[in-house]
Amino acid sequence: MPPEIKPGRVRLVGAGPGAADLLTVRALRAIEGAQALLYDALISDDVLALAPATCLKIQTGKRAGRASMAQSTINRLMLRLARRGLEVVRLKGGDPSIFGRVGEEQDFLHGYGIETEVVPGVTAASAAAAQFGFPLTHRGEARRVVLTTARLEAGALQTDWSAAADPEATLAIYMGGAEAAELASRLIAAGRPADTPVAIVERASAPDAVLTRTSLHTLAAGAPESSGGPVLIVVGDVAAQAGARVLAEVAVTQRAARTG
Ligand code: SAH
Repeated sequence: MPPEIKPGRVRLVGAGPGAADLLTVRALRAIEGAQALLYDALISDDVLALAPATCLKIQTGKRAGRASMAQSTINRLMLRLARRGLEVVRLKGGDPSIFGRVGEEQDFLHGYGIETEVVPGVTAASAAAAQFGFPLTHRGEARRVVLTTARLEAGALQTDWSAAADPEATLAIYMGGAEAAELASRLIAAGRPADTPVAIVERASAPDAVLTRTSLHTLAAGAPESSGGPVLIVVGDVAAQAGARVLAEVAVTQRAARTG
């Protein structure tokens, strides 16, 4: 009889926003010790390069024209690799607990008796704020941060607008780049003043990250050009501070704020 293989563990690891030096030490150790690595589209090459040469690397997200894997396929793959006794690392952009399907993947694996561990990461909102010198909360200005998303479902924007009109809430909108203009109109309709500052950050943490400062009103008239990188939209008074404390040479685009 073949010797029984002890199933491996699956670590769901936050890779941060892209820059390899924004990995946590724990994430770095997990990557360095990985025997199988399943990684999302947003994982940078610098981070992938930290995995051992012998590590099996499997890309699960849309990248370089290849299609994304179905969630069920990713789940089965993780299970199969863990059952072979491998140290499996499931690498996700930013923090795995923020729009990272971490709960679904853990539930699936636990259902088959596979141990999991989550390693947190720097989320895009934190990276964007740090790089462009603005806070997410600010005394007297922003008491709450809402990490939210807006997806088009059946042709309509679906999201929870309950926090939208709250002037003391900073909204950090994930996965909203394509619908930015529509989103801005909806926020104004929900009661957020049209002159509310907006900071749009593309590729936060990368040396070629781009900040566009605008307002809800201007954004509603048309989203700025994007070069295809991941885009985070920050709405709230704190966005007016974006770029003001930036020392390094980074691109800041000011979109003329129109009134009316
Ligand atoms: N778990 C991730 C978010 C995954 S959802 C996190 O915590 O950051 C993917 C969305 O995250 C992208 O559409 C974009 O809105 C945002 N995002 C991720 N990385 C980013 C980056 N480097 N710069 C700007 N936005 C980013």
